[in-house]
Amino acid sequence: MQARFNYQMLELARSSRGFTQKELAALLNRTQAAVSHWEHNLREPNEDDISLLSTALNYPVSFFYQQEVDVYLPPVQGHYRKKAALKAVSRTQLESHFRLLGGWVNKLQDAIEVEDGIASPDFLEDMVADATPEDLARQLRAKWRVPNGPIRSLTTLLENHKILVAKTWLFNENVDGYSFHTNSGMPVVYVNREVELDRLRFNIAHELGHLVMHSDCLPDAEREKEAHRFAAEFLMPGHEIHDQLINLRIEGLMALKARWGCSMAALVRRARDLGLLSEERYKGMLIGLSPYRKKEPVDLTKHGFVEKPQLLGMMVQYHLDELDMTATQIRDMLHLNDGDFSQLMLTLGLGSGGMFVSHRL
Ligand SMILES: [Zn+2]
Repeated sequence: MQARFNYQMLELARSSRGFTQKELAALLNRTQAAVSHWEHNLREPNEDDISLLSTALNYPVSFFYQQEVDVYLPPVQGHYRKKAALKAVSRTQLESHFRLLGGWVNKLQDAIEVEDGIASPDFLEDMVADATPEDLARQLRAKWRVPNGPIRSLTTLLENHKILVAKTWLFNENVDGYSFHTNSGMPVVYVNREVELDRLRFNIAHELGHLVMHSDCLPDAEREKEAHRFAAEFLMPGHEIHDQLINLRIEGLMALKARWGCSMAALVRRARDLGLLSEERYKGMLIGLSPYRKKEPVDLTKHGFVEKPQLLGMMVQYHLDELDMTATQIRDMLHLNDGDFSQLMLTLGLGSGGMFVSHRL
């Protein structure tokens, strides 16, 4: 069967590199209309064009011939949190990045599922639909048998329950995280690695809240608040932390942060939400914290908190060890160039010098 150029992959490739049609056309020395026609399947690029596209967009030629475009479908219920409005181009680029990552997860997972029949995640069953976010956070802690006290590694907890966590650069420091289900049903949480550990932990818990509560709806301001409430209760259960937040003072915040692995700002907010700070006192404390807005004191890594995703790396490793594939074969299966593939492997902690390269190439 003759493989056909897939116009949908061109659009995905272009947007993932942050190019407009016009910019891509300029790179190729073609008109915007030509690019537009290709992307709308009105005309097919010839082999020379495809070779130029491959170079300009830095994807192997095979990328454009992928037929199973559904693995890259935009996640329907994706959520992402951001501090500021993103430009349209950045948003499109970010979303295509999520689609690509989702596609790689699908591809890696498919082979494993066929081989080993990995069970789908069980965390959503028996959750009460009309419960408050706090109720749901408590229910999930109980269901997962999370011991009282702080959670040292949210990532390990989530991954033990088959929720994939990935820490990546999300192109923009204002984007905190993103969650969705892949087409094969695996819940995925992406968080921006370029943030402090306290914020990163809160972001993971926030995305978990979306996965638990909002898998059938799109985020809005109200749901953002719900995800925050879920995260606060999940990380700092009210009945445990309540007494520690009475008569809260700025000086006491560092010790509480080291204990709970949450930012000083989140602790102050928690105290207010638990009714332990008047609005006036709350504002006063935020002003007291303002010198730390960019960077708070207390390095959480020195207090036993670690967020190190493993699951995606294990999926790759499984292909090497159990499916007897070479790194090059995995790269080709994901239709990546060497640079992007190395980058992905580094993100997974499988970079050069690690076990990955030492296996076989
Ligand atoms: Zn959110």
